[in-house]
Amino acid sequence: MAFTLEDLPIRDDLRGQSPYGAPQKHVRVQLNVNENTHPVPADVAEDIVESIRQALTTVNRYPDREFTELRQSLADYLQRGLGSDQGIGTGQTISAEQIWAANGSNEVLQQLLQAFGGPGRTVLGFPPTYSMHSILASGTGTTWIPAQRDDVFRISPETVVAAIREHQPDIVFLCGPNNPTGTPLPIETIEAAYAATDGIVMVDEAYAEFMPTDVPSALTLLPGRERLVVSRTMSKAFAFAGARVGYMAAHPAVIDAFRLVRLPYHLSALTQAAAVAALRHAPEMLAMVDDIKQQRDRMVTELQAMGYRTYETWSNFVLFGGVADPHAAFEALLDQDVIVRDLGIPNHLRVSAGTEEETTAFLDAMRRVAADQPPVRVAA
Ligand SMILES: *Cc1c(COP(=O)(O)O)cnc(C)c1O
Repeated sequence: MAFTLEDLPIRDDLRGQSPYGAPQKHVRVQLNVNENTHPVPADVAEDIVESIRQALTTVNRYPDREFTELRQSLADYLQRGLGSDQGIGTGQTISAEQIWAANGSNEVLQQLLQAFGGPGRTVLGFPPTYSMHSILASGTGTTWIPAQRDDVFRISPETVVAAIREHQPDIVFLCGPNNPTGTPLPIETIEAAYAATDGIVMVDEAYAEFMPTDVPSALTLLPGRERLVVSRTMSKAFAFAGARVGYMAAHPAVIDAFRLVRLPYHLSALTQAAAVAALRHAPEMLAMVDDIKQQRDRMVTELQAMGYRTYETWSNFVLFGGVADPHAAFEALLDQDVIVRDLGIPNHLRVSAGTEEETTAFLDAMRRVAADQPPVRVAA
């Protein structure tokens, strides 16, 4: 008999688990993990390469443990967003002392749970939501408490407050816009959650750049809320998923807590150089966001016309219901060189908005699927 991990003295709570991750397949139209499917513009890529080249000349030394330049670049980026994109321009400022970064926002969230969760502590979440939230909870020994959403996957202020009163969690995880549903998260819900707990409130804003531009980000709630953490990533709108850079904004005291659990030098000099260079080109890196939103809206309209049920989405993907057999539909799309995400939500699939051409390929393939297995009614 072959020796397997089950034969090892592995932690009891990890026994029998499978690793997280969507299938990584080489398919022409990859719309399964919400990446920005537009590549980095060539001139920007060249500038990034030049920065990495320079960083390599001193790579015999450990990197800046405090990634000072990167934190300043991220603060400047968020500051610009606060001034215009988010449509408030209130004069609120975000400084480098309020910023922390890591290898993807996944690592940021893991550090948050290491610092504020752990054995004997709880984190409240609202499934269906980003699966990594509960997986990171389990990896850090934090108890995950799932609570109910309202109709059409929304969370009202009343619902969040009721769940907090009932479960008294140490940490509340909210996700807005929510993955995998795309659902908006009302700013009133975040305010109400914060007021109802003495614990940490984390808002995962991985898709913030796809929100309507006149809607305020949770960042606008930071002043006076020392226990609020807003998590962001360069993996989605920013077209930088392969570089692994996520970050968060919070009170500097929260960042002091992160310093207690982070590995020293967790962000490599090459990552720091690449991210700083990319942020210098933020407008070019984000140039395709409007186009992606248009393709997303086109998917919504055309899927509805085919008879599928869609939900309001403020992200770069669409959850659609009414799929008679999601597994068979997933395979039928794969046969047509299109990959989407089957999340195990009955009668639903999720698809990321692609380029115009990729979106057309998906919609054409989906029409063939609909002809084979006509859409079914799903409950509201
Ligand atoms: C994709 C995604 C992330 C991104 O994770 P990274 O580690 O930054 O790549 C975080 N949160 C949500 C909700 C996501 O969908």
